[in-house]
Amino acid sequence: MICLGPCRLCTPMIYHSKDLKMKKSNAKVVVVGGGAGGLASVASLQKRAASLDITIIEPSDKHYYQPGWTLVGAGVFQPGKTVRSMDAIWPKDANRIKDRVTIFEPDNNLVVLGSGQSVSYDILIVAPGLTLGWDQIEGLEDALGRNGVTSNYRFDLAPYTWKLVQEMAGKEAIFTQPAMPIKCAGAPQKAMYLSCDSWLKRGALSGIHVTFASAIDVLFGCKPYVSPLMEYIDYYGIDLQFKMELIKVDADKKLATFKTQSEDQAPVLIERDFDMLHVCPPQRAPDFVKNSPLANKGGWLDVDPHSLRHKTYENIFGVGDICGTANAKTAAAVRKQAPVVAQNILLTLEGKSLLNGYDGYGSCPLTVEKGKIILAEFGYEGKLMPTFPWDSTKARKSAWVLKKHLLPIVYWEMMLKGREWP
Ligand SMILES: Cc1cc2nc3c(=O)[nH]c(=O)nc-3n(C[C@H](O)[C@H](O)[C@H](O)COP(=O)(O)OP(=O)(O)OC[C@H]3O[C@@H](n4cnc5c(N)ncnc54)[C@H](O)[C@@H]3O)c2cc1C
Repeated sequence: MICLGPCRLCTPMIYHSKDLKMKKSNAKVVVVGGGAGGLASVASLQKRAASLDITIIEPSDKHYYQPGWTLVGAGVFQPGKTVRSMDAIWPKDANRIKDRVTIFEPDNNLVVLGSGQSVSYDILIVAPGLTLGWDQIEGLEDALGRNGVTSNYRFDLAPYTWKLVQEMAGKEAIFTQPAMPIKCAGAPQKAMYLSCDSWLKRGALSGIHVTFASAIDVLFGCKPYVSPLMEYIDYYGIDLQFKMELIKVDADKKLATFKTQSEDQAPVLIERDFDMLHVCPPQRAPDFVKNSPLANKGGWLDVDPHSLRHKTYENIFGVGDICGTANAKTAAAVRKQAPVVAQNILLTLEGKSLLNGYDGYGSCPLTVEKGKIILAEFGYEGKLMPTFPWDSTKARKSAWVLKKHLLPIVYWEMMLKGREWP
């Protein structure tokens, strides 16, 4: 039997490579999401093959530089430094559909939009990020932004974090972390260290009981960084509480409820008063991915960890937080993934073998003091991958300069414009 194109008989593979090859000159590439991963992949593709017909489906008018929100929450960045209008950064020659994808039909090479319209593709890049589960904690959505409840995980709330830090007059500050995976796994701690640093500098820290309440039982997933972080936990006198999962917030009573376990593993509920509560919400794969044929068992996009191509559908690729891969979900990971995705799309269209080019690199600049950072950089299986020839487990002023001054330029001017930095 000869397969001439999109083929329902030979599912789950839709295209054979030779069918895609015939389409290279005018292949239609559709991208789900115009965030860090979507736009960086498009930039890397256009740099290599300007003639491709690219359409990006993105509902938002704004694009956010989320790594900057930690510094907004510490009063270092103004919020405006972390947002640009989509119009201002939209890749030249890429079509735009202002809508959201609701359904994948990979057997028909179609995505369905909120409007009901279907969009067909030859190649699909899936990059819608992840869903922040504010709704998974009772009372949280109502509490955010008032009575001391905040989160650097929202653009509009990061300035409130800084307001609370400056005005903190109470005794109890709690910083929470949910179960993994989350984007930028260090971000809940970063908010805490920078708050402690401010309180220490104004002589208030000794009067504040600071708790880090984490649903998991390790401080950081990559082991070599745990010990230097523990030194900061001790330095600031932080009360480290593992297996404490935030399940409810009552902003009016300023009361947080945690689920934990007794010594014999029985579930126990603990209520804690707070004056300031910084919440990192639980995070999950978006429902439209989770409930699609593209998802793995956990609901994430089922891609090969090195080529980033879908394990079942040869003409679908993933980039960014949506990928069901074991790397740290960071923009730094996207910076390394986007060129791999771009090259592998072109190789697919040429009928050639793919590059297994992504090594799991991700990075988390741990802002342990205002002015010093432990620049955690690691790949799959926790392999340390420092960019610079230094001991990356040490807190450094130069890493702070990198985060504050250079990385925003790398993001806006390089990553989103196809100027790839190794
Ligand atoms: C507080 C905080 C601190 C962080 N710190 C760092 C850091 O220091 N270093 C670092 O490298 N990373 C950091 N990150 C993580 C980094 O921002 C993310 O990993 C990165 O943005 C992921 O890119 P993405 O394209 O997968 O998702 P996003 O950038 O979130 O983009 C997803 C896009 O998809 C769109 N979309 C959603 N649903 C749909 C749909 N149904 N249809 C079409 N489009 C859709 C969205 O509107 C959005 O534009 C941090 C994140 C946060 C929140």
